Amino acid sequence: MNDQAGYDPRAVEAMVAQERATYLARNPVSAARQGGTGNLFGGVPMTWLAKSAAPFPLHFEGAFGARVVDADGHELVDFCLGDTGAMAGHSPLPTVEAVARRYGTLGGATTMLLTEDAGVCGSILADRFGLPLWSFALTATDANRWSIRLARALTGRSKILVNSYSYHGSVDESFAVKGPDGAVSRRGNVGPPCDVARTTRVAEFNDLADLERELAHGDVAAVLMEPAMTNMGIVLPEPGYLAGVRALTRAAGTLLINDETHTLSAGPGGCTAAWRLEPDIVTLGKAIGGGIPSAAYGISQDVADRLAARPDLDLVDTGGVGGTLAGNALSLAAVRATLTEVLTPEAFVQMTALSTRYATGVEKIIRGAGLPWSISQLGARAEYRFTDPAPRNGTASEAATDLLLEDYLHLYLLNRGVLLTPFHNMALMCPATTEADVDLHLGLLGGAVDQLVGA
Ligand code: PMP
Repeated sequence: MNDQAGYDPRAVEAMVAQERATYLARNPVSAARQGGTGNLFGGVPMTWLAKSAAPFPLHFEGAFGARVVDADGHELVDFCLGDTGAMAGHSPLPTVEAVARRYGTLGGATTMLLTEDAGVCGSILADRFGLPLWSFALTATDANRWSIRLARALTGRSKILVNSYSYHGSVDESFAVKGPDGAVSRRGNVGPPCDVARTTRVAEFNDLADLERELAHGDVAAVLMEPAMTNMGIVLPEPGYLAGVRALTRAAGTLLINDETHTLSAGPGGCTAAWRLEPDIVTLGKAIGGGIPSAAYGISQDVADRLAARPDLDLVDTGGVGGTLAGNALSLAAVRATLTEVLTPEAFVQMTALSTRYATGVEKIIRGAGLPWSISQLGARAEYRFTDPAPRNGTASEAATDLLLEDYLHLYLLNRGVLLTPFHNMALMCPATTEADVDLHLGLLGGAVDQLVGA
């Protein structure tokens, strides 16, 4: 033992090799299906699905609630939940019934006509987030993209500002981190349309002086941010930071877009409602349709009034905001059922209590083993990070990334029936998650840590 994260890397390499061998023996059907027919780019349906700590990604047969049954018949407790897309649990019954009714009984998924569900969905979101007017998309990426366009149109400014090492979907402007002289491309950025410094300014999360400096250029249309970062571990806002962001953006004439795609875990109205934030625009995605593609953005009355005064903007055809399948009847039937019957305020209370049980248990294991790690919780979501205290911005959190350690923990858990999200150590609770599920993870993590510190 001992490097900075509290273990001997050579011993962990050997443990990872052992876990990979176990995985190989345990998953012959997934192994045999690798690469499919040979006609998939990267051997997978979407290139991200190749990311796995295992020698090959897992195939699955079915998923209900907090459980996935893999192709080899193992039942896994799922804390990944489709990296938030299944926050409502897999195939929750009310959503299944609403989708079957819409698509099968009534018929019609996409018609360029309206259904009653749209207005109901808008009202629920307005009640929960406090923004009066809503529009729908199919991905959070698109909700962000369209919000950015609206902000540029209203302000006449060219740039957006993001926090270093944030993630907001495949939005061109957002693949930027802080460089010595401003924004630079994030490592691996595939085919950026231009130098990101032309489109983007970057600040560190929790650093108001940095934000103020960047806004002082007077060219930022919108700050696009998560109220708590969730894509480089969980980085929580320090007291006063979010109020400072709001004051600085208002003073600079810059719109504030809260991306609540992941931070919805904080409660039914995300961090916006939980912390009484006052963004100009909120974006949502992934979870709100119970796994059926759906996303949304909400705008303030002020933004709506300013847009209404701009008849030059083509919002009904080829102006660059909207999409053919966005707001389709199937998607909205799923959103209505998921929000009203599955992701209810009561469900969030239960999910958050489980997440607290999870975080408290992990903290005990970390302290018991004397590991320099930390755990952060945001409502129904919690994540451990290999540094202590918890990082206060994206750059510090990125520096604590330890892929070897992540591989070890992911594989150890997966081989024993627990699934974490492949991109990080995030664990999310859904309405079907139980105390026993949380305790299973804690018991296994305890075993993995014992092996780690004993090595
Ligand atoms: N915003 C945030 C905060 C996200 O975490 C993600 C995806 N991880 C997105 C937007 C984009 O979501 P999608 O890939 O569904 O467009």
